[in-house]
Amino acid sequence: MQVRSPRTVAGRGFILQSFYQLSFDELQAACDSASYLFNWHYKKNQREECRHNNISKKTKLFMSGVSLDVPTIERVELSADKTVKFLFKLHDGGRVETVLIPFRGKYTICLSSQVGCAMNCAFCFTGKQGFKRHLGAEEIVGQLVEAKRWLSENRPDDHRILNIVYMGQGEPLHNFDNVKRSAEIFLSRHGLSFADYKITISTAGYLPGLERWQKEMPTVNIALSLHATDRERRNELVPINKKFDFEKVIELADAIPRGDRRFVTYEYVMIDGFNDSDHDARALGRMLKGRKAFINLIPFNPFPGAVYRRSPDGRIAQFKNVLDGFHIPTTIRTTKGDEILAACGQLNSSPLAREGSAP
Ligand code: SAH
Repeated sequence: MQVRSPRTVAGRGFILQSFYQLSFDELQAACDSASYLFNWHYKKNQREECRHNNISKKTKLFMSGVSLDVPTIERVELSADKTVKFLFKLHDGGRVETVLIPFRGKYTICLSSQVGCAMNCAFCFTGKQGFKRHLGAEEIVGQLVEAKRWLSENRPDDHRILNIVYMGQGEPLHNFDNVKRSAEIFLSRHGLSFADYKITISTAGYLPGLERWQKEMPTVNIALSLHATDRERRNELVPINKKFDFEKVIELADAIPRGDRRFVTYEYVMIDGFNDSDHDARALGRMLKGRKAFINLIPFNPFPGAVYRRSPDGRIAQFKNVLDGFHIPTTIRTTKGDEILAACGQLNSSPLAREGSAP
């Protein structure tokens, strides 16, 4: 069996693979109780190894060499609107943040895919902490598994996670293999069984990942962080634009196979006096007209040391009005959890940020 990201467990001195990195088919090939194990750990949410009598010797032997470790919750922050932000500690001491965003008694989980981020977008707090490493699939899956356990223990009446967005720390397509693997695990009908339209992967426009997506990624939604319609301003906001030009990026995102009714979501951060004029809205409308596009306007979320300011609400509403004239469905993303720095672009798990000063 192919093992993607094995690791040495501190103190144990040997390479252990994680249960949470295994696809159903891999597990099935390695032991004869994959359905049982997926049900036990994913559907029933169990932490401990399954010791039932109907588990075969072969499975027990296999599982004795497999780790059930997941990232540990180091800190939980709660906001008045019921947003929950977790700080996870990883096996090597690295840290990432994960957010549960409430919606009518259910949640969307916002997952991180890397420790830090290499994209260095000018308006994003994560970018300021630099890039440390990719997360393994088990660390991505582990965020959801632990958040689910936390919810069932702490909010038993509203513990359902309905949607998954890869919009936490990191550029998911820069960590393609592990992100893809985690999505496959979330989709497996033997386990968590998410529908493909409930999962969205957001990218700053990392072209090598988009090129692979077409052939390799299971069908899930794509969101593209656009933020500007001309090269100069996008270069400033999203520096990888200098390397991967957005016209090519849009063409590729648009060509990704998806169901008939499905759109590409274009994210557009609203920055006061920078990209929020009627002229900008018309340029955006012209650029996306005729495509299966859905626009998500994100009011800029400030963070310590930020040089930009959020567009006023009235300006954002007027920007949307202009886009409505192009008949492109547009929503304004509600800001949730900003008082605990849990909103879009406010995640930062570096030690300095935890002590309250920007890194
Ligand atoms: N790297 C991926 C996913 C992470 S960010 C990407 O770029 O798409 C998820 C979304 O939040 C992106 O659209 C990102 O541009 C946006 N974002 C980042 N910083 C922000 C901020 N300070 N205010 C509002 N949105 C922000």
